[in-house]
Amino acid sequence: MEATSLLHELQTIDTECIMSTYARQPVVFVKGCGARLWDANGRDYIDFLGGIAVDAVGHCHPRVVQAVQQQITQLIHVSNLFYTEPQFRLAQKLTAVAGMDRVFFCNSGAEANECALKIARKWGKRKEPPAIEIVAVEGAFHGRLFGTLSVTAQAKYQKPYEPLIPGVRVVPRNDVSALREAITPSTCAVILEPIQGESGVYPLSAEFLHAARERCSEVGALLLFDEVQTGMGRTGTWFLWQQLGIQPDILTTAKALGGGLPIGACMARGEAADVLEKGDHGSTFAGGPVVAAAALATIEAIESEGMLQNARAMGDYLRQQIALWREHLPIADIRGAGMMIGFDLAVPKAREVVSTALQKGVVVNATSEKTIRLLPPLNLTREEAEEGLHRLHTAVERVVLEASHA
Ligand code: PLP
Repeated sequence: MEATSLLHELQTIDTECIMSTYARQPVVFVKGCGARLWDANGRDYIDFLGGIAVDAVGHCHPRVVQAVQQQITQLIHVSNLFYTEPQFRLAQKLTAVAGMDRVFFCNSGAEANECALKIARKWGKRKEPPAIEIVAVEGAFHGRLFGTLSVTAQAKYQKPYEPLIPGVRVVPRNDVSALREAITPSTCAVILEPIQGESGVYPLSAEFLHAARERCSEVGALLLFDEVQTGMGRTGTWFLWQQLGIQPDILTTAKALGGGLPIGACMARGEAADVLEKGDHGSTFAGGPVVAAAALATIEAIESEGMLQNARAMGDYLRQQIALWREHLPIADIRGAGMMIGFDLAVPKAREVVSTALQKGVVVNATSEKTIRLLPPLNLTREEAEEGLHRLHTAVERVVLEASHA
């Protein structure tokens, strides 16, 4: 079928048969390899978005493909009523690189955080009087299920679904005194993203994070780090807590874990790792042999191909190059760590940049009218970085020029 008619056909099906939750770009991707994508016309794109931080080892990494191919011909699913080897090998490897004791596998980031919140509530309810309050940070994004939505402190996501789960206290980002005040003996947990991703790549300050750790330890609350986006090497270490030197009691991850396949993990250490008991939580699909084999292959690829080092080096390079654009383009701010980058335009044209960039052959994302976010594969090469930056620069330049003539 001719490519434009394929796009039109899919757009018609979208309108007729799919709930309209997604605003999609008008492109049909048919192939991916490393940091490159191809559309149905055979045009190539540099992927600076990586499926929203999922394709950390690039598209169709040979190790992941081979692991999946091998496993899928042997055994696809039997449920968690039985043992299957890949899940247990993965559990051992993942908890080791994450510095945690135990893991519960699930199927997404939101599910990982739901598990974390359940551990927190059960933990707090053991106390007398029970501690049921959860402290969350303004601008956070923890998922779209009811529990996680209740701690996703952004009105646009929450309003239509209220009432949400009770007992959530929200503090402004990086407001240390508000945080200290909000954490009391009634608090069972503090949940935060060490760098807020969906709201625009905003790092939480070291002072704020240290205060969270300190107060949680003082009152006996659990510190939950949501590393669904920052985890699995995205910022240049396996998890961001390892750079910060602030260890959470519970650590969640998902996105990049499965090399493109859906898997999430809620990890815990110390006493928090023993809170959930038989029958407390579960998931039919979770940790199945195919996704577990893919995740194990993903970790091995990151480790054996030096992707953590590359994420640091190439992330620095991308930020430095974008900083140079400031000499002639209105770029207000550049944030992030490793391969998690956000930059602000001084004009509210980020969404126009996304669609122009796509026309120029580079995939990026806007988290707001002003912020462009890049989440490239950790193994992005210098050549791919240069090509992607060139295409993105052309797009930003064009949008800025058009805005100045409007
Ligand atoms: N937590 C963070 C920090 C995220 O960035 C996301 C998704 O963007 C989630 C949780 C939810 O993950 P999922 O979409 O896999 O449910």
